[in-house]
Amino acid sequence: MIRSNPADQIPFLTTQSVSFADRVAQAGYHPLKPAKDIRILQLNVGKWCNQACRHCHVDASPIRTETMPESVARQCMELAASIPSIDTVDLTGGAPEGHAVFQYLVTESKRLGKKVIDRCNLTILSEPGFEWVSPFLADHEVEIVASLPHFSQSRTDQQRGLGVFDRSVTGLKRLNELGYGRSPKHPLYLVYNPTGLFLAGNQGELEREYKTELKRRFDIEFTGLYALNNLPVSRFLDSLVRAGKLEDYMEVLTTNFNPGTIDGLMCRHQISVGYDGSVYDCDFNQMLELKVAITPTVFDFDPDLFTQRTIMTYDHCYGCTAGAGSSCGGSIQ
Ligand code: SF4
Ligand code: SF4
Repeated sequence: MIRSNPADQIPFLTTQSVSFADRVAQAGYHPLKPAKDIRILQLNVGKWCNQACRHCHVDASPIRTETMPESVARQCMELAASIPSIDTVDLTGGAPEGHAVFQYLVTESKRLGKKVIDRCNLTILSEPGFEWVSPFLADHEVEIVASLPHFSQSRTDQQRGLGVFDRSVTGLKRLNELGYGRSPKHPLYLVYNPTGLFLAGNQGELEREYKTELKRRFDIEFTGLYALNNLPVSRFLDSLVRAGKLEDYMEVLTTNFNPGTIDGLMCRHQISVGYDGSVYDCDFNQMLELKVAITPTVFDFDPDLFTQRTIMTYDHCYGCTAGAGSSCGGSIQ
């Protein structure tokens, strides 16, 4: 399996006749540098997840044990406190709620006055032992970003596993009852990503379609929708290679390269931290173990060096600049 070793993935991400770095240079951005102000601290708290989805770029599953130690979590909070431009702490995983430091990170980030995002898979809300999650999130006014690949059962279950759609609907109804998607204090965003070898499509149109269908079928409401492209990393890269489809997919990504998305690339505006405290450009580079060499961990983090660095790119990055662009906050344009 390619995904079992990040270094094995790189040769598959260096095959394009025009590399991503060269394409970005042609657009006048050589080398790719971060913006001056870091706005988001994204913390990947570990690889344990109650699900094992086909497209997971984290290679998360119930048998993974990697998790963020308390010492790293505390250092991350010191970092958040010391950089005033950081207004958002974005918690991801795995299923972040299943990791011991989750509640500490939420409460401490809130105490520091930061917005907190929980990237929630919805099924965790009905997992035995996790009944505390929904009211905890509501009490702390945590913004929820939840993956729902489609409003139809078959397309969601195809990507995320049998029964996931029904449990996601149950989770969304519970969140609606707590005010999520209905009150400004409880924002609830859904995440769409394609189930085939195509780009995410128009975010606004998808949002309208999701809103209409989820209201009509289940009386579910939500704040907004993020449309994301699938990046050829980890499990998804593995499935493309095994199906002989990597070349086709890369052609879709490269022919739809959109230079207008470069300013908004998430790697230009965030610090991405792994469960062990290593620092990366983004969650995808994290999965490829492409550390920020100039300031490699939260324990020796230097914000000046970080904002002077060159962002590390390979051809997976074409996924972020294809079509309307793709980031943790949805389309870039
Ligand atoms: S729910 Fe998210 S983190 Fe968990 S396996 Fe699925 S895609 Fe990966
Ligand atoms: S994959 Fe990461 S480094 Fe590459 S363009 Fe996207 S956000 Fe930036």
